[in-house]
Amino acid sequence: MTPFDLDDDKPHEECGVFGLWNCADAAAITALGLHALQHRGQEATGILTYDGGRFHSHRGLGLVGENFSDARVMSRLPGARAIGHNRYATTGETVLRNVQPLYADFEFGGFGVAHNGNLTNAGTLHKALVRRGCLFQSTMDSEVFIHLIAISLYSTVVDRLIDALKQVEGAYSLIALSNEALLGVRDPLGVRPLILGRLPQADGSNGWVLASETCALDICGAEFVRDIEPGELVVIDDRGVQSIKPFNKVERRFCVFEYIYFARPDSVVEGMPVYNARKRIGAELAIESHVEADVIVPVPDSGVPAAMGYAAESGIPFELGIIRNHYVGRTFIEPTDTIRHLGVKLKHSANKPVLEGKRVILVDDSIVRGTTSRKIVEMVRAAGAAEVHMRISSPPTTHSCFYGIDTPERSKLLAARHSVEQMCEIIGADSLAFISIDGLHRALGHDQRNDAQPQYCDACFTGEYPIKLHDLGEPDSAQLSLLTERS
Ligand code: AMP
Repeated sequence: MTPFDLDDDKPHEECGVFGLWNCADAAAITALGLHALQHRGQEATGILTYDGGRFHSHRGLGLVGENFSDARVMSRLPGARAIGHNRYATTGETVLRNVQPLYADFEFGGFGVAHNGNLTNAGTLHKALVRRGCLFQSTMDSEVFIHLIAISLYSTVVDRLIDALKQVEGAYSLIALSNEALLGVRDPLGVRPLILGRLPQADGSNGWVLASETCALDICGAEFVRDIEPGELVVIDDRGVQSIKPFNKVERRFCVFEYIYFARPDSVVEGMPVYNARKRIGAELAIESHVEADVIVPVPDSGVPAAMGYAAESGIPFELGIIRNHYVGRTFIEPTDTIRHLGVKLKHSANKPVLEGKRVILVDDSIVRGTTSRKIVEMVRAAGAAEVHMRISSPPTTHSCFYGIDTPERSKLLAARHSVEQMCEIIGADSLAFISIDGLHRALGHDQRNDAQPQYCDACFTGEYPIKLHDLGEPDSAQLSLLTERS
């Protein structure tokens, strides 16, 4: 391997993480938590446990259920402490060496790490570490943490981790397990989510949970305690939860796309139920860009809450005019354009009686390449709709994400190259409207976007990247030139 293998794999990790301290059947509960977080990653999954003497791990390609439903696998994961990870499909190769949690034996003991997000200086650090003689086993950002911890001159695990954290830049939520503690970290801006929960044990002691989203607490009966703060490191052991703030404080910039699309609608993120946020975005969309119509139809599943909000605000009936087949994966992650086209047909079908002769408002959460919208509009027209109006519950996606949401390179984003009118023509709709950036902020409880100090990371809509993109030229030079032109 050379450092340039990093470029090939484009480690855009958009993932789910879960961790437990002092919980009976930790591996089984971690599998449950990962199952609830399956939407954050379907490519691969892994669990690492610690039984007080030894670490044990199982990692595999595919879904949580495919990997952790076998009693023999589970019996090889003893212990009351565990961390787990779901990895999202990326454009890079799917190989076992790129499946988390990563584990290494150090002189101070074992250390496993699972992370969600992207380190924007991973390539630079990788090169520097290789030059120092570090031998990388994978192309994952997380391995950078392992090597930085290995070469740190500090003695305790926590100090070594802080030393490593101070050298990385990026958007990440990280969970780690050592012989002594379960550790959780959110990057200084808090771009990616991480929460703390409590799971009382039969013997009266406290069990602790770290997870990407609250839906992972609900599935295992844990109670929500709080969000891990941006820039906070929590050290969890039998004495409880210790909070450390190793970074200089900066204003938070949570990822607004988690509210729009990525988080599960039954999760509460940064104090706000995602479901309510999506309904309010839909209502705001109706206020901003309503047209006369007979039915509001969501593009399932991601468009459903926004369409409900739109329908409630506009007073037009909400109908399931498109039915989704749940037994196919997300079309977005299929590898070729041809398959992607086919995938949409596999995934969605028109509910003719609802659409025939009607003026239809379709609501979806985002247009990325435009493939889904074009196919859906065509399908709704073929089912006999009189008019098809597309309403999108996010602003136009004009920029790629380098902080952990898997978006294609900028040249493939429809909104990067076309005006709304052109996009409307391309997808074949009678009208097309996106929520405005201020409308999005109003829906999330703000008067408007604060341009001087933005409330969220909204780089995919504004091109304002809050974390320096050191290695941007490495993943994609076309992206670099496009980006430097604009910013
Ligand atoms: P496209 O067909 O490329 O325009 O993709 C748009 C569809 O993909 C929308 O229906 C979204 O719900 C979905 N989508 C948006 N962002 C992502 C993402 N990062 N991963 C998977 N699906 C996505």
